[in-house]
Amino acid sequence: ILTIAGLNKSFNGVKVLQEINLDVNNREIISIIGPSGSGKSTLLRCICKLECIDSGVILLNGRSIYQKDFAKKPGTKIGMVFQQFNLFPHYTVLENIARPLMTVRRIDKESAIETARTLIRKVKLENKEASFPRQLSGGQMQRVAIARALAMNPDIMLFDEPTSALDPELSGEVFQTIIDLARDGMTMIIVTHEMSFAEEISNRIVFMDHGMVIEEGNPETIFHSPEKERTLSFLKRIR
Ligand code: ATP
Ligand code: MG
Repeated sequence: ILTIAGLNKSFNGVKVLQEINLDVNNREIISIIGPSGSGKSTLLRCICKLECIDSGVILLNGRSIYQKDFAKKPGTKIGMVFQQFNLFPHYTVLENIARPLMTVRRIDKESAIETARTLIRKVKLENKEASFPRQLSGGQMQRVAIARALAMNPDIMLFDEPTSALDPELSGEVFQTIIDLARDGMTMIIVTHEMSFAEEISNRIVFMDHGMVIEEGNPETIFHSPEKERTLSFLKRIR
């Protein structure tokens, strides 16, 4: 479903991503791990066009994300969830999800609210639809952010450290939401420092260092018998 080939990206002449190649299959769950500054966030930001790239190709369902009118074609929706939830503070939970549906997808108010309510149920926040973000816990805010991304009906979801701003006990509920999405067959790329979660949920682990994909493979291999020295020393350092 997603193909990245020969992707290079630099900031002010400093290479941040080098010759990245990555294929993501439909319904696959990939976790990206690696040290701070290795380019994980930048990679996700390139995929959802928050950053421009120097060279390479990014295809979603066979179409370049840089193609003219890309976003208007079917099968081209990318959802992204950030570490900081980026909710609209002056909108309620319901409005945070319904408003973008009305403005971005031009859906009429009634259907937008109906869709928003369905998604609110999905992330188990039924009793919070009239609350404002400041009245929610971090875990609840992140679930609203996930519901809002889902509202765009994405073909793939990208998560950049979705739980790293949360206390451990709140991370669990966000993990559960992601596990539910996996069960529904959502294709996902997750950047995370939570190794046990990555191991549990992923079909494949990608280890990045210095802007390069050093090693990728199934969780069992990467976490317990990685081939590359750099992968091993990273895992040793964080354990
Ligand atoms: P972390 O685990 O700390 O989130 P990361 O793997 O997500 O790290 P990135 O945020 O992708 O790393 O950053 C990769 C490199 O690119 C870093 O050296 C960072 O300083 C640099 N960088 C990121 N964004 C910018 C920017 N907007 N301008 C200049 N340099 C940037
Ligand atoms: Mg990052």
